[in-house]
This record gives sequence, structure tokens and C-alpha cells, in this order.
Amino acid sequence: MPLGKVREKVLQGLGKARGTPHRYTRWRWAVAIVVTLIIAALPATNMLRFDMWGGHHHYLGENHGLIETAKRFAFPFLFVNLAIILASRFLGRYLCGFGCPYGAVARLAEWLKFHAKTRRERWIGVAWLLGICTLLSAITFSFWIDWRVFRDGSSLAIALSGSFLLALVTSFYFFVQKLGPGFCRNYCPSGVYFALLGHDSFNGVEFAHEEHCTECGACDKACPMDLKPREMSGGEYREGDGFYPDGMSNFALCIRCGDCVTACEGTTARSGLPTPLRMGFLPEKARESAAPDHPTPQP
Ligand code: SF4
Ligand code: SF4
Repeated sequence: MPLGKVREKVLQGLGKARGTPHRYTRWRWAVAIVVTLIIAALPATNMLRFDMWGGHHHYLGENHGLIETAKRFAFPFLFVNLAIILASRFLGRYLCGFGCPYGAVARLAEWLKFHAKTRRERWIGVAWLLGICTLLSAITFSFWIDWRVFRDGSSLAIALSGSFLLALVTSFYFFVQKLGPGFCRNYCPSGVYFALLGHDSFNGVEFAHEEHCTECGACDKACPMDLKPREMSGGEYREGDGFYPDGMSNFALCIRCGDCVTACEGTTARSGLPTPLRMGFLPEKARESAAPDHPTPQP
């Protein structure tokens, strides 16, 4: 399994040789921030919020009972899930690579670890990470409990709410700091679901110009999912691990993060030749060859 530091080194040294963050990095952060802001706006504007303390449940700004709020939310919830299913089916796991707030913070944790050379920088990194984990935990908390509990609640209500918030922050911090992208690779149940849905999607990484490959291996080291990007369209598969069953193809597991392409572009930037790896809509030929030797389990 490639270490986070090795991956960061590859991306820093090769993919970002031109001094600015790679376009995939910029897109990843932009999408993750927009998604997080949209999620945060739901409880903040009473568009969707449950209040397990005061019983003031809200949907589209109106106050309803718990069951009524859940019923009204059911249809848009199904609609959003249908959109996710269709997107994963046709585009693969872009949601994991670009839209997931956890994935973005896990990458940030690696980046901070990589850049921290001194003890002071390490502590600054921890403070940043704790701040972001607290922010994301506060957003999650807002969906379930009204913040006024800390002003008007009984001692028991304050203790329970505080414990809930503390549990969110510590578990979030533990996951991003200790597991990082390893959680996406081995344990995320949504990731398994998206992988099953998108095992023969139309998008992905293509080894388009094999003849220009220098066999430098930078793409392998850069992959946070421990895959072999050059073998993506060859039906290669990874042994089952964590929640992931045996027999899933590399193509299904790929989160479309583009790190391998970033690294590959960095290695070939000076040659002026077409980049061996690229990401985008796959020609039918590449999709056909991506059919795994070990059939991917069906959802
Ligand atoms: S193969 Fe490339 S795009 Fe897919 S997960 Fe690995 S680095 Fe990301
Ligand atoms: S595909 Fe690109 S990064 Fe990977 S080994 Fe070949 S030249 Fe290196």
C-alpha cells in the first residue's frame, strides 16, 4: 500500500512542478467546498432540520412534527439518491473523488502531515484539522439538535448534546487522521455501493498512449486506492479488503480522483508528448477491455 507521504511527494514533485495546484486539485476543492456549503445551508435556513431536543422539526422553512417532516423529506431524498445512482452508474465514483467532504479532509490531513517539517508546523496542522473536523461536526449536529439547547436546555440535555458533539468531533478527527483515504479504500459502505453501480461506467482512466510510458511508476505511487492505473482498462482486480468483497475490478474501485493523471502529466510535461494516462469519457474499446476477468459482484 503506498504511504500518504510517498503519494504527496510524487504529486508535489511531479504533478505540481509548474508551481500551481493541478486542475484536478482545484476542481476537487471547489466541488467539495460547494457541496459542504449546500449541506450546511440546509439546517441553517430551516430547509431541513430535525430537533431531537425541542421537537421543532423543519422542512422547507415550515415547522412540522417528526413523522410529517420525515415524510415530506422522503421524496427529495429518493430523488437525490436516484440522481446519485444514475451519476455513479454512468460516470463511476466521481462523487468519492470530487464531492465527498470526508475525502477532501482526508487528503488535507495527508497534505498537512507531508508539509509539517517542525514540531510547531505539526501542531499547526493538528489545529487546522481539528478546526475543520469541528466545523463538519457542527454541521452534522445542526441537522439533529437545536443549538439553543446549550442556552435553554436542562443539565441532562446539555450533557447529552455536548457528548454527542464531542463524539462527532473525535470520531471525525480519528478517521481522517488515522485512516485517511484508507477509509475510502476499505471501509466506506457508500463507496462499496458506488463501486458496484459504476463497475462499467463510461468515464475513467485510460492508458491512451502506452508507447510514451517511461515505466516510472509515479502513477502507481500516487493512487490513494492502491490500484494500478495503467491496468485500469485491462480488467485487473484487487483482492477484497475491509467491506469490499473479493472480485471487484480496479475500474470499479477507482474514485476518479485524477491523482495518477496528475503524476503522469508531471513526468511527461517536458517531453511535449501526449500523456500516457488521461481521464475522461472512454472510447468503447477501452470500456470493453475493462470488463473484468473476475466478474464484479452485481448490486
Ligand atoms: S487510478 Fe487514478 S483516478 Fe483512480 S483512484 Fe487511483 S489515482 Fe485516482
Ligand atoms: S503511465 Fe505515466 S506515470 Fe505511469 S509509469 Fe507511465 S509515464 Fe510513469
